[in-house]
Amino acid sequence: MVDRVLVTLDGAVQDPDAPLLFADDIGVLRGDGVFESVLVRAGDACAIEFHLGRLRRSAQALDLPEPELGKWRDAVEAATKEWGTDREGLMRLVLTRGRDTELSAPSSVTSGDLAAAVPVPTSYVLVLPVPLRVQKARTDGVAVVSLSRGISVDLAQAAPWQLLGAKTLSYATNMAALRFAQRMGADDVIFTSTENRVLEGPRSSVVIVRDKQLITPPAKNGVLPGVTQRALFAEAEKAGWKCSYESLFTADLLTCDSVWLLSSITLAARVNSLDGLRMMAPDNAAEIIELVDRGVERAGAIGDW
Ligand SMILES: *Cc1c(COP(=O)(O)O)cnc(C)c1O
Repeated sequence: MVDRVLVTLDGAVQDPDAPLLFADDIGVLRGDGVFESVLVRAGDACAIEFHLGRLRRSAQALDLPEPELGKWRDAVEAATKEWGTDREGLMRLVLTRGRDTELSAPSSVTSGDLAAAVPVPTSYVLVLPVPLRVQKARTDGVAVVSLSRGISVDLAQAAPWQLLGAKTLSYATNMAALRFAQRMGADDVIFTSTENRVLEGPRSSVVIVRDKQLITPPAKNGVLPGVTQRALFAEAEKAGWKCSYESLFTADLLTCDSVWLLSSITLAARVNSLDGLRMMAPDNAAEIIELVDRGVERAGAIGDW
């Protein structure tokens, strides 16, 4: 049973223990690139067209060359096949700006040199085992602390260079927030804006449940549009739920029926405590989990991002 799979965009299955990146890859030097995390379940890359659509949108936001989606599909298929069907996998699609080819001696530069200097993006698909924390988050939920992200809900529109709607490789602050939460005895984080609005988790979308209604903050508030959240909304609407994108205050997290962190690998994790306050499981917890599961499994049929 393989425990890691690496496929490059030429479709070649690589040795996952052999070096792949160059030391001057701009993805490493500056975190300048984009990624997707995709759940592999029963030999399927779940909601893959949604993920490829968002990869494309993220690449556009960073002015990266248009990803060749046909090649990505083939690489994903090769990696999925190689991984097998007997257990879940965490698939990463990684796309960086490529090697640093910036010219340092401008006196002798010709236009031909400049054309040659355009970096070739680094692209690969990697599959790893699903982290241990995932099963626990699915079954027991997560203890969450709310942490300020120090930004306004207006920032996404006022400062597009902040790339708030793109899934970029610059995640050092997100990882730092998770470590900060762990030091406080929590499992995860909900970021808030300077106006005390609910944003998202470092790697998840926030959805609240109130009566027969699901609410998540809109992308214009500076949160990443979530594949899992979208898949849930599509499935829940069919089942008669009202689903909406609305600004939420942190107080809404305490007055609603339940709060969920949604992400492609963990899927649905119920917030079982928020800033130390216990949050009881609602009667419909199993129904929400079921809707997310079904939504993600059917997302292939919904079409484009
Ligand atoms: C990946 C991610 C999400 C969740 O998106 P999914 O597509 O459901 O996995 C939400 N917020 C951030 C910051 C993320 O990186």
